[in-house]
Parts: sequence; C-alpha cells; structure tokens
Amino acid sequence: MNKFVGYRCSLCGTEYSPTEITYTCPKDDGNLDVVLDYDAIKNKYEPEDILSRADASLWSFLPLLPVAEPEGEATPLHLAGGTPVFKLTRLAEKLGLQNLWLKDESRNPTASFKDRASAVVVARAREIGAEVVVTASTGNAGAALAGMSAAVGQKSIIFAPRSAPQAKVAQLLIFGAKVILVDGTYDDAFDLTIQASNEFGWYCRNTGYNPFTAEGKKTAAFEIWEWWRDAHARWHDEFGEDLDHPPLTVFVSVGDGNIISGLHKGFKDLHQLGWLPRIPRIVGVQADGSASISNAFHGNTETITPVSARTIADSISVDLPRDGVRAVRAAKETGGTYVNVSDEEIIRAIAELGGAGVFAEPAGAAAYAGLVKAAASGVVGSEDPVLVLNTGNGLKDVRAAMQAVAEAPIIEPTLEAVKKLL
Ligand SMILES: *Cc1c(COP(=O)(O)O)cnc(C)c1O
Ligand SMILES: [Zn+2]
Repeated sequence: MNKFVGYRCSLCGTEYSPTEITYTCPKDDGNLDVVLDYDAIKNKYEPEDILSRADASLWSFLPLLPVAEPEGEATPLHLAGGTPVFKLTRLAEKLGLQNLWLKDESRNPTASFKDRASAVVVARAREIGAEVVVTASTGNAGAALAGMSAAVGQKSIIFAPRSAPQAKVAQLLIFGAKVILVDGTYDDAFDLTIQASNEFGWYCRNTGYNPFTAEGKKTAAFEIWEWWRDAHARWHDEFGEDLDHPPLTVFVSVGDGNIISGLHKGFKDLHQLGWLPRIPRIVGVQADGSASISNAFHGNTETITPVSARTIADSISVDLPRDGVRAVRAAKETGGTYVNVSDEEIIRAIAELGGAGVFAEPAGAAAYAGLVKAAASGVVGSEDPVLVLNTGNGLKDVRAAMQAVAEAPIIEPTLEAVKKLL
C-alpha cells in the first residue's frame, strides 16, 4: 500500500507529487505538509492494530509514516521514540494542578527529541539513495542526525555554530560525523547548509526545510494519543463516564517551530482518521530573547518578524524561525497559546525539575517554566490535565545546569570537617 501520496504547501495549498519536489514550495518557499492516503489507511487499519505492536519505538506507527523502516537488526535508529510518561505529583501540588505529567524525550538514543526527526529523515535518505545527509544545527538536531546515521552506516555532515555547547559538539564528533563549526549564528549555519547542499548534491535535513522532519516529530503526538487513551479511560473509571472535563493541554518549547508543528500534524492525522475525537490544546513556550513566533501569535498575524536571538536555551535560540507559520497555527487551531519565559525562569525550572528527578537542558526546562507561568496567570486551571515535554537531557549543557544550583562545598577528609559543615 502506498500511503504517501504527496505534499501540500502550507501557504498556498499547491499539491505536489512525491517525486516532484524535495524541500519547500517553489512558489513561495512555504513549508510542505506530507499528505497521506487517509482512506487507504483507515480501510486497512484499526487503532488496535497499531497500538498492539510490542516494540516501544516510533516505528510502531509505521502505517502512518511516509517512509519504510530501515531493514536490519535493532540499532539506535530503530529504537528512537517510545519515551515514557510519568506523573509529577509534588510539582503538580506546588502549582495547584490536579493532573500533571511529563513525557521525557531526553530518553531518546542521543538524548533529545530530535532523534524522531532524524530517524525518519535517515530512513528517507536510504530510500532515495542519498550518499550524504547534511544539517545545520544548534547541536541536538546534528547529534541526532549524526547518531541515527552512524547507526546504519550513513555518511553525515553537520554545520553548527561555534558557540554550541561542548557536550553536543562531542556527540557529533563521537558519532563520526564530519563536523564544521561556523563562526556565526545558527541562522548563518542554516543558510550555508542550504547553499552547500545545492552545490554538492547532499540531502539536507534542515529543520523547517525538509518536510520529513515534522513527520518524525509527529510520532510524539501518536505516543501522547496512545498514552492518553489509557490515562483517560482510567480517569473515567474513577470519576464516571459522563465526566465533562477540559481537554489535555500540552506544553512544548519552541525555536524553529518544527516540533510544535509536528505535534499538531500528528494530532491532525489521527483526527482525520477518526481515531482522536478531540485534539489537545498546544501551548508553545519561547524564551523572552527568542520569541518571534510568540510575537506573531500575540500580534494575531502569520508574518514572522526575525529577532536577534539571545537566550541561555541554545536549542531554541533562533533569529528567523523556519517553521513559524505552522507553529503559530498549532496554537491557534487547537485553542492553545504562546507563553514567554526569561532565562532566570528557565534556570529555576531546571532546578525544580531536578528536584523531581528529571534533568533537563535549558530548552527542555523552558516548557516547564512556561507551565509555571501559565498556571500562575490562569492560562491553565487546576482541573486541566497537563502534559509537559522535556525535549532534551541536562547533561548536554552542564554549564547552564550549574547556574541553577549552589556550588558544593569542598572539605578536608576528616569527620571534624563534616561536623563543622553540618
Ligand atoms: C530543537 C529543540 C527544541 C525546539 O524545536 P523547534 O522545532 O526548533 O521549535 C526544543 N528543545 C530542544 C531540546 C531542542 O533540541
Ligand atoms: Zn506554496
């Protein structure tokens, strides 16, 4: 069954066949949505066919993806996704919420959400016989592409700003990618990567440029759906069938706007199949110093005005978001909103999540910082069920983490010194 039928431009609506185009709309540079044959999928599958698969990875959702799973034994690429959801009971109490969960994307093979996109893009690269895959990255997208590529023996090249956190650069190098550090911003690296891929015929994974990244990222929405079906059913058992409760609200941090667009696409796919009656409310969180999508949302426009980005959360530090329009719509069409947080609030959120046993990098903690603000301002009420995505592992940026805590004392190795300290 060929379920991948083509692309539709998110700006002008023009449709293209799968072989006609590789990246964005030639008319207006709009981001392309992958179009699937929903009728064929619906005729062939029931939700139970998909949910009964034993492997906890994004490949459980293969019937809803526009690529085939790469053949061979299980590798990190085959194990991307399938991340856990757990309750944050004490933090929920602190915020006055009755039901708060966290989906921990730091458990992905290279420790960030980006593995979802890179696994699917590498699968696509194998299908089209691409010799080299390249991406611009603030670090995580590159680490994910390098890791997923290494897993299946695909050549990869990563352009990152020279300011990228050291641990992320180490990951790139360890995975054996060709790493090129650009003396400039992420946006400079982004534009250079597109020029270089055109010049040398490389397959470009750039976020908000390659339509397959959102297809990988939408698998998080599928997993949220899978989890929520159960959580919701348990809830009804407890409170009775007729409970009319508010929809699930999902908090996610936003840089280029591709994760939030991918989540929205995943929920829309399920809705179109008739498998998800009510699409969750999506709340995007941006850093004060990198808030161009939020600015557009609150200015009630789809025109994204670039900023000169400055934030400790390197993964969401973007001058010109490459998936801004769809990112604005993800909040607007689901009844969500955008919340901005300061670097201080992000740093505090790192410590608060840490106190619950979750170690998040700044961009991951930003989503929780956004929830703190939203709970205080009434954007979410105490009865709203809330899911926060932690998109990246704290070990990726230890320097930022150390700003969230006091330094540990150093003592002489004597009991006397311990007593004195206590
Ligand atoms: C990339 C990234 C984001 C933001 O995703 P966008 O698609 O750029 O909006 C958030 N958190 C982490 C850890 C990331 O790596
Ligand atoms: Zn177009």
